Amino acid sequence: MLKETRRTDPEIAQLCDEELYRQEHTIEMIASESSVPLPVMELSGSVFTNKTLEGYPGSRFQAGYGVADKMETLAVERAKELFGAEAVNIQAYSGSTANYSVFATILKPGDKVLSMRLDQGGHLTHGSPANWVSGFYDFSFYPINPESELIDYDALEKMANEVKPKLIIAGASSYSRLMDYERISKIAKAVGAYFMVDMAHISGLVAAKVIPSPVPYADFVTSSTTKTLCSARSGFVICKKEHEKMLKKGTFPGALGSIHLHTMAAKAWTFKYAASEEFRNIMLKVVENARKLSSELAARGFRVISGGTDNHLFVIDLTSKGITGKQYQEVMDSVGMSINKNMIPFDQQSPLVTSGARVGVTAITERGMGDEEMVKIADLMTRVAENIDNQEVLDQVKKEVQELIVKFPMYPADYFKD
Ligand SMILES: *Cc1c(COP(=O)(O)O)cnc(C)c1O
Repeated sequence: MLKETRRTDPEIAQLCDEELYRQEHTIEMIASESSVPLPVMELSGSVFTNKTLEGYPGSRFQAGYGVADKMETLAVERAKELFGAEAVNIQAYSGSTANYSVFATILKPGDKVLSMRLDQGGHLTHGSPANWVSGFYDFSFYPINPESELIDYDALEKMANEVKPKLIIAGASSYSRLMDYERISKIAKAVGAYFMVDMAHISGLVAAKVIPSPVPYADFVTSSTTKTLCSARSGFVICKKEHEKMLKKGTFPGALGSIHLHTMAAKAWTFKYAASEEFRNIMLKVVENARKLSSELAARGFRVISGGTDNHLFVIDLTSKGITGKQYQEVMDSVGMSINKNMIPFDQQSPLVTSGARVGVTAITERGMGDEEMVKIADLMTRVAENIDNQEVLDQVKKEVQELIVKFPMYPADYFKD
């Protein structure tokens, strides 16, 4: 696959080989990660990357659109079928740009938006002070209940009545529970707000019908395609038929430029594959593994935020182990296990330090791991947390990580050889 790169630039080819080695030898538990099936990798590098095209099938700004029109139409039809959607816009480059194109479609500068706070599970693009949207629109944030660590729907309703937002956003990067989309959609309707669900993390689970879908309830559903959907680095937006026309304009020319046809082809492949029994079984196992790993960790003295998980991820509070998220992330990485530091609700530490870590099981489940491996990983994670300064223990853990991971190859060994 890298034949011409090896011939012309051994230095960058070497870095590709090193990255493949790193991935093959890492227990990857960053919740946003997954490994793509090989056709997704091939299509992401396909000749579609050469074509510059703006507009939509049937109404393009450049010549040479015939084949691309067929491909975009196929991708959209497959996505509609997969998610039971009335309309889909497939042009977003990522989850973030999917959100920006919805904002460009329905919001004016200064408009009010109600969303979930970053430190309680939300995403940067939902109005974090660190993101440009916070200076452009007027964001308020609904809280979670400090006891249950679940969304406080009564508080959300009260805030919606007070703020009268133009848009209410649900969806998160580190929330391990199901959301009551029906209730939020009723609240939105009552105050005359649009309702958008950002399903970036969970779209694979939704596609496989393993957890409930937001599609029937939301005006707009945005998603990244790189998380549980296990596809190219890209995104898409689903909407109600009545919003389709304005979303088209809001996306192009409203927010984006020429289409990324190569990742669009990869998404088209995924929208077919995600309807298969094979993909559904992987997603079922993802949820099972997340439950298993979180309960095994809880049994070893970690506090799991909200007490468990209904999806592919969960957040652990490391306070009881006397370490920070930053420390844990670094030391885990040094022994070949990848997680990320994460704020816990009402965290006393800064976002760069944090009191918690987020754990996701999509990537290791794709590689074939199950119950037995979750028990082993819980054991390894506990030994790291409890021996953060003990190099002897860490060296032993590192050895056991390698013994485990090499039994579950990510890709056929010879695929990337030439
Ligand atoms: C990851 C994520 C995004 C951004 O997706 P990218 O593809 O990384 O741009 C948006 N929203 C949520 C909730 C996410 O978790």
